[in-house]
Amino acid sequence: MVEILNSWSHADGAARASALFRSRFDTEPDGVWAAPGRVNVIGEHVDYNGGPCLPIALPHRTYVALRARPDDRVRLTTRQADPPTWEGRLADIAPGLADDWVAYAAGAARVLLDDGYPIGGFDAAIDSCVPLGAGLSSSAAIECAVAIALDDVNRLGLAASDQGRARLAGVCARAENEIVGAPTGGMDQAASLRTADGKAILLDTLDNSVRQVPLGLDDAGLALLVIDTRAHHALVDGQYAARRRTCEQVAARLGVRTLREVADPQAALATLTDDVELRRVRHVFTEIARVGTVVSLVEAGRVAEIGPVLDASHASLRDDYEVSCPELDVAVEASRAAGALGARMTGGGFGGSAIALVPSDLTGIVMDAVAAAFGDHGMGHPAFLVARAAGPAERVAGSPVARPAGVLA
Ligand code: ADP
Ligand code: MG
Repeated sequence: MVEILNSWSHADGAARASALFRSRFDTEPDGVWAAPGRVNVIGEHVDYNGGPCLPIALPHRTYVALRARPDDRVRLTTRQADPPTWEGRLADIAPGLADDWVAYAAGAARVLLDDGYPIGGFDAAIDSCVPLGAGLSSSAAIECAVAIALDDVNRLGLAASDQGRARLAGVCARAENEIVGAPTGGMDQAASLRTADGKAILLDTLDNSVRQVPLGLDDAGLALLVIDTRAHHALVDGQYAARRRTCEQVAARLGVRTLREVADPQAALATLTDDVELRRVRHVFTEIARVGTVVSLVEAGRVAEIGPVLDASHASLRDDYEVSCPELDVAVEASRAAGALGARMTGGGFGGSAIALVPSDLTGIVMDAVAAAFGDHGMGHPAFLVARAAGPAERVAGSPVARPAGVLA
């Protein structure tokens, strides 16, 4: 029997977070807000290079039951960390927090404050069905769930428009960069806040625009299988930062802000004499081109033909960008051997998850084959989910907060 990572209904998630809130704080929350994890179809390690990417929001969400406080205190509890509680003041939320998870949970509050938004203290209880550290962005899910709750109870109004959501996504990305200290790009937060039910978004990180792209998987008889390898996934341990630094150094040398803005990629590659730099930058250029190919195929109703492009993305991430690992390679190869049309690692890499494009009727066979291959390689048990494009972060329980603006500031 393979393990399936099930998502919760909104009612279940809201009930879990509310129950945790009541047991911890002995009162009712103002409401419950939920934000999704994501899986990226194509466009990996390009979001900090001004490139495009194509994520979908997952039905797997982080739920936050939250109540505004009339002072500047913050009390947090979660079912997914140890120690599971934290108490402090808004001003205590700063880089270097002893409990890493607190920076993810409350970093957005600090960034909102720094930006001049009237944020008050709050009590929050968190529960999630997004697997942590699986490359499915539990980090953005917790950041965005708390951020959208704070937007609501402090009546900032940002969640009401895509422009406001883009700003909230930027706040959450800065929380991850500046408070947590993980130098990730902005894809995850945009996926959590700016997607639409049933659609992927084509996020252009150069101008921060989004375009909704229905993938048409059901009509093509296809499924997007996510394989959580359960291998270690460490974005803060220097590898990710090193990749980002290389890209930024080369861009600076080429006289552009981001690699996306290089006018003639072939000519630029010809100037690179260092083999590592050449391969890193080649990944970025070729991956940006692959996003264009995939979007063109999908929008022409030819999603069944994107398999080879996914395969090429994996090879590039493995050989040029060197962010894959044995578990991801085994997941990808076993999926293809069992009938997947294409497969690639997804997310930051060094563990985490892979995706496979599979004919729907082969989903079970591919899952069994991957689990068996992991067994053969002594790799432990992977877990699976079939990705369905879900909606963005939103309030899932409680009515609009009627408190007058400014009272909490
Ligand atoms: P990913 O985003 O791929 O899941 P990251 O390493 O970026 O992996 O983020 C995982 C970290 O986010 C966890 O180690 C934890 O600190 C924090 N986190 C995510 N979800 C929760 C949660 N529900 N409760 C507490 N912390 C969480
Ligand atoms: Mg993350």
